[in-house]
Amino acid sequence: MEKTALSGLTLVELQQVVQGEGLPKFTAKQMAQWLYAKQIFSFDEMTNLSKAARERLDSRFLVGRSRPVKTQVSADGTEKYLFRTLGGDYVETVYIPTDDRATLCISTQVGCRMGCKFCMTGRQGLQGNLSVADMLNQIYGSPHFDRLTNLVLMGQGEPFDNTDNVLRLTQLLQAPYGLAWSPKRITVSTVGLLGGLRRFLDASDCNLAVSLHFPTSAQRAEWMPAEKAYPIERVVEELKQYDFCRDLRRGEVRLGNHQRRLSFEYILFKGVNDSEQHARTLVRLLRGLDCRVNLIPFHAIPGSPLQGCTEAEMKAFRDRLTQHGLFATLRASRGQDILAACGLLNTAGKKGEAS
Ligand code: SF4
Repeated sequence: MEKTALSGLTLVELQQVVQGEGLPKFTAKQMAQWLYAKQIFSFDEMTNLSKAARERLDSRFLVGRSRPVKTQVSADGTEKYLFRTLGGDYVETVYIPTDDRATLCISTQVGCRMGCKFCMTGRQGLQGNLSVADMLNQIYGSPHFDRLTNLVLMGQGEPFDNTDNVLRLTQLLQAPYGLAWSPKRITVSTVGLLGGLRRFLDASDCNLAVSLHFPTSAQRAEWMPAEKAYPIERVVEELKQYDFCRDLRRGEVRLGNHQRRLSFEYILFKGVNDSEQHARTLVRLLRGLDCRVNLIPFHAIPGSPLQGCTEAEMKAFRDRLTQHGLFATLRASRGQDILAACGLLNTAGKKGEAS
């Protein structure tokens, strides 16, 4: 019988497992704490469970955790990990330390079917969705697990092409029996898949980042095929309807006025989307939204005519946006030498390579 992973199950589901195995009821809570509050890789490490319980669980289930099969370290301190999924595929994860943060960028799918023409993952195509266990493993299997301050779902894949698992992941990270993370520490990125976006806005309080990159529908469609099904104007319209300052409530408990952050990612391509006209169109599109724009340097990929802007050109574009009243920041390029930077992740043909 194939063993299933317990990582990814909620406390209620663990209670069902425990009941089915004839173990004491309190074991479920202990297991949840081991699975979600600590970094463990085997049932043997669940030291407050009886030896018999650990052996019973080990014979029937997997924890669902593994360490990276490969680690690359950039000159700038960024690290890229290759994880093997439970299904035998491979995904990449990037650790980005700065002076005051330690951010982990995880993948949500093996490959991606959005086909953005400036992205190496897009070229890979989609091999499948990641399970909750496989997404959690990128976090709990990370060598710097104890240091993590922020999580971004901006690696390989489109999170809202895997919405059920992404929502469950964010819920488990916030669960009181686990890390109890604030939703402010988690950012989910999307090209704008409306169905998943609506569900995410309703069911989660995490931050949202929209991959915008081109301010007109015509130009966006040229480089991002998803634009045809999910036009950026509709995505922005949807966001304008949503109250990002809503009062959060859980049952009867008022959690306060938390403003989840809304940002738009904009990769600057030389001579393509970096003109004064583009800046003005972008400002017009986002007018009325309380948001920020993150300007991202482009890293050339083989066979693409696109080029990145210089730092001076990026600053000039940022200043144009700022002058028009749109808050914009420049993102530093990280991990380019190990192909860990934005748009460079690709695990095509990795099966069998790693070890
Ligand atoms: S940029 Fe994001 S959505 Fe587009 S192909 Fe790459 S991984 Fe997929």
